Amino acid sequence: MTLYIVATPIGNLDDITLRAIDTLKRVDLIAAEDTRHSGLLLQHLGIKAKLFALHDHNEQEKSNVLIEKLQSGLSIALISDAGTPLINDPGYHLVKACRENDIKVVPIPGACAAIAALCVSGLPSDKFIYEGFLPAKTKARQDSLAKLIDEPRTMIFYESTHRLLDTLNDMQTIWGSDKQIILAKELTKTWETIVSFKVSELINWLNEDPTRQKGEFVLIVHGHNKTDDDIDPKAISTLKLLQKELPLKKAAAITAEIYGLKKNQLYQIGLSAEQ
Ligand code: SAM
Repeated sequence: MTLYIVATPIGNLDDITLRAIDTLKRVDLIAAEDTRHSGLLLQHLGIKAKLFALHDHNEQEKSNVLIEKLQSGLSIALISDAGTPLINDPGYHLVKACRENDIKVVPIPGACAAIAALCVSGLPSDKFIYEGFLPAKTKARQDSLAKLIDEPRTMIFYESTHRLLDTLNDMQTIWGSDKQIILAKELTKTWETIVSFKVSELINWLNEDPTRQKGEFVLIVHGHNKTDDDIDPKAISTLKLLQKELPLKKAAAITAEIYGLKKNQLYQIGLSAEQ
């Protein structure tokens, strides 16, 4: 009775390990997010296996069924549509339930888009944070970005085609146009593209050719470098949000009051943001 957490490719089907293939061949059951999609991978690998559907909206309920099967002596592999299960994919509830029930959980590591992108980004990789997908609604997304404004570690985000530009525009609004971003698109696939730009340049680059906005994306963002004469980035974020609703003079005065800063300095920052 063992649950194997098996990573599968994120594009290129050759990116599957020998251990992953061996495990998928040996287990009694494979729990998969989308049984039709995983069926194609297994067919490609020449593996005939029983599939069991486990997705986000039925995971808690189906985990109980899988726990019973594991307790009855079956071995089960968990896979997701792409990459490492549990990384923005189902599996957390199942693994937690296994650990609570003393069921052995074994990792079979492999591809993960976040780590693949980080490793080629050229940004510091000694300390990083993984944020996954930002919230879909603008206000919640901007609030999340504001909380990360002085985050010193490299940040990793996942993004989809239809929200990429909105997210980058919000990053520019909250963090300023100079923030360095590496966009890793379609990793391991035919149209793999990895580019590094300031956020404002990246938005222009994507707008120059809308096909560049299509695909699967990881955004790797440079953490905040603190210098002695830095203004608290939270103050700049507040100034920018207020600037949208109020005349610059007023926005600068209120921000100065909140953060104990000089009005004029904030006014100058606001002016350069308007240009
Ligand atoms: N479990 C997966 C992993 O290990 O990376 C992530 C699954 S999550 C539902 C899907 C998101 O991962 C995509 O929207 C995209 O942001 C990112 N992603 C997956 N494959 C990718 C690829 N080949 N290139 C770039 N990003 C990818």
